[in-house]
Amino acid sequence: MTTRPDINTTLDLLRIEIEHRNPAQPEFHQAIHEVLETLAPVVAERPEYAEPGLIERLCEPERQVIFRVPWQDDHGRVHVNRGFRVEFNSALGPYKGGLRFHPSVNLGIIKFLGFEQVFKNALTGLGIGGGKGGSDFDPHGRSDAEVMRFCQSFMTELYRHIGEHTDVPAGDIGVGSREIGYLFGQYRRITNRWEAGVLTGKGQGWGGSLIRPEATGYGNVLFAGAMLRERGEDLEGQTAVVSGSGNVAIYTIEKLTELGANPLTCSDSSGYVIDEKGVDVALLKQVKEVERGRIGTYAERRGASARFVPGGRVWEVPADIALPSATQNELDENDAATLVRNGVKAVSEGANMPVTLEAVHLLQRAGVAFGPGKAANAGGVAVSALEMAQNHARTSWTAQRVQDELSHIMNDIHTTCHETAERYGSPGDYVTGANIAAFERVADSMLAQGVI
Ligand code: NDP
Repeated sequence: MTTRPDINTTLDLLRIEIEHRNPAQPEFHQAIHEVLETLAPVVAERPEYAEPGLIERLCEPERQVIFRVPWQDDHGRVHVNRGFRVEFNSALGPYKGGLRFHPSVNLGIIKFLGFEQVFKNALTGLGIGGGKGGSDFDPHGRSDAEVMRFCQSFMTELYRHIGEHTDVPAGDIGVGSREIGYLFGQYRRITNRWEAGVLTGKGQGWGGSLIRPEATGYGNVLFAGAMLRERGEDLEGQTAVVSGSGNVAIYTIEKLTELGANPLTCSDSSGYVIDEKGVDVALLKQVKEVERGRIGTYAERRGASARFVPGGRVWEVPADIALPSATQNELDENDAATLVRNGVKAVSEGANMPVTLEAVHLLQRAGVAFGPGKAANAGGVAVSALEMAQNHARTSWTAQRVQDELSHIMNDIHTTCHETAERYGSPGDYVTGANIAAFERVADSMLAQGVI
């Protein structure tokens, strides 16, 4: 029988080898590290998981596509961006995961997101594998026509690799309903097929699901509420710091308000806004979604309760709970120490990997309930899978039905993570619970399907 220290050493050596084989991809290394450092208890208990090559296969994408995306701006100038699609694991179903358009995008970032997505999708309990894609294209300041031409060029290559039974992209940073519309239009034109299930996050008149735009933010708030309930509290009356002001942040703020909590902040890459009366979600939507403006404009229009802090870190605002909802590694060890000093009770990741590994350890040591993104923000992909189901049946569900399904799924994910952590000797550790529960589901399917 292999001992736990032996397994830890084996997993550590494996991690080092993966880092070696994937140089200069720090975000991917971080995501691998966070998972491998929690797997020893399950590998010790289930020897089949120590089968040579299983974890190596899990950490190696099934396919990685990189392509040129040339497009012309409104002045006729040609730009060349790079497109990516990483099809990470399809043991549970077609690859599923968003597209990110942001200048920081590179292969390592897409691989970290794809790896996380495999685990997240497994936790939903639905039949979806994991993938991710995107481009280093920056949509900020681009006209609708430029964004359309870019999306059309991007899809002119991507269409070869996707399909409702193969790989189903959705939105992420920089990709919302406008971009999904242009992408879907080009896919339909090239293939001459109405294949609604090839993309999710579609408009509601043409195959989109009600509650899909809201699902990630709503789901994260439900997850945070479930963590608080475990401690005998609920969301009502709690103050919250939220980062970001995009899709996830907006609907996080909306749900917090609906449930009687007080979201004090939102942010973008220029700084943050603190609003003592609680962020007014209608004004935020107007500034960010309709006008595509900057967060400072919100403070200018809101009046005396709000002020804009240029370049500041939102985590310096004292609050009961924190919901990072912008981007990876936006909350580091210093920020975590500040949150703990200010008495934070729970941190729940709306974004993917927004909290650094060191910060996660610090929060856990301080007894703060910590919800990892692969569990806490899984509501978005879960409703995407429900969108695929509606497309398949050529029907559309009511908002109430989708909301009910979303709350069941989020509660189930919370229970699964909580119980799994307890079963493997780490009560209250949602990171270990999420990683092991997702790993068991994916690994069992991979073992059953043979060495492929
Ligand atoms: P959006 O593009 O709608 O919004 C992103 C927000 O984060 C903006 O406020 C943006 O500010 C800010 N932001 C992005 N990059 C940076 C950066 N490098 N530094 C500072 N601020 C930044 O994206 P989403 O809301 O869809 O996604 C947010 C996070 O949630 C991402 O991590 C994404 O992977 C994750 N997620 C999203 C899901 C979804 O359904 N959309 C599902 C699950 C996870 P600015 O405009 O100034 O760049």
